[in-house]
Amino acid sequence: MSGKYNICLDIGGTKILGAIFDEKKDIVYRLKKKTKEAGDDTANVEKMIISVVQDMIDESGIKKKEIKAIAAGAPGVIDQGSGIILTSPNLPWTDYDIKSSIEKKFDIPFYIGNDVNVGVLGEWKYGVAKGYKNVVGFFVGTGMGGGLILDGKMFTGNKYKAAEYGHMILDPEGPLCGCGQRGCLEAFSSKKGMSAYILQQTARGRKNMLAESIENGVFKSKNLKKALAAKDTVTLEAVDRACHYLAIATGNMINTISPDIVVYGGGVMEAVGDLFMEKILAEVDRYCMPSIRKTVELKKAALGDDSNIYGALAMIEDM
Ligand SMILES: [Zn+2]
Repeated sequence: MSGKYNICLDIGGTKILGAIFDEKKDIVYRLKKKTKEAGDDTANVEKMIISVVQDMIDESGIKKKEIKAIAAGAPGVIDQGSGIILTSPNLPWTDYDIKSSIEKKFDIPFYIGNDVNVGVLGEWKYGVAKGYKNVVGFFVGTGMGGGLILDGKMFTGNKYKAAEYGHMILDPEGPLCGCGQRGCLEAFSSKKGMSAYILQQTARGRKNMLAESIENGVFKSKNLKKALAAKDTVTLEAVDRACHYLAIATGNMINTISPDIVVYGGGVMEAVGDLFMEKILAEVDRYCMPSIRKTVELKKAALGDDSNIYGALAMIEDM
């Protein structure tokens, strides 16, 4: 392969982030675009990715032949080896051979993986988990994602479906989760879970700062930050509850895996991660076997919004 640049994408339900890396792994160009503009059908989302890549090539002034590879993280169950999206919760894809499609269009190798797996990969290769062999990642966003590095390898389980510990059941009589079950970690500790609690309290006549800004069942991280800075009571309750269940889930994962490090990433951690870390650390020892707790570190992700972009780069380097 002759090219020296890599195009890396983070494909989300609402936006696509793009970055071009040079051979020194420095980001030389960035792009951000809303996914919504792409409409809802598969062809349009594909068109969107193609247009983002084309824009990045045109606007950066980098020639197509100078590009070594394109890689992306996207939501859903993805066969990273063959580049087929098996299912995707927020994007309209089923058994979608996006790899062939993009490679045909640009004549450049294309790689794709699950966004949380790719985010954990980024933190493992370039971020806070660099050099560790066993990594448990919790990604706190709209939902609750998980990603596992075991014995120095990404663990994807049978048919790429592993690490769904956002749906670890912590209270079978708890609040309803999007998956149909009750009391999953996601139902307490994700933006969806915290928003549901805030709306429930609002319905009880309790005033708070966040309820008004909840759209489609989720608040924006920057509004959470504002409400916490103002010490909004209901918001603080939602966060306490989120961190309480995250601490329990962390204890369960620590006891199960005995990882070297647990990494907390995602939009919520990027916005208010220090407070989350403080609360989780204050409680987590209660739920861990002491001997296993002694040998694990708990840390906030280091790359912030760029975890996935760097993870995409790591996928290219691994190929
Ligand atoms: Zn669930």
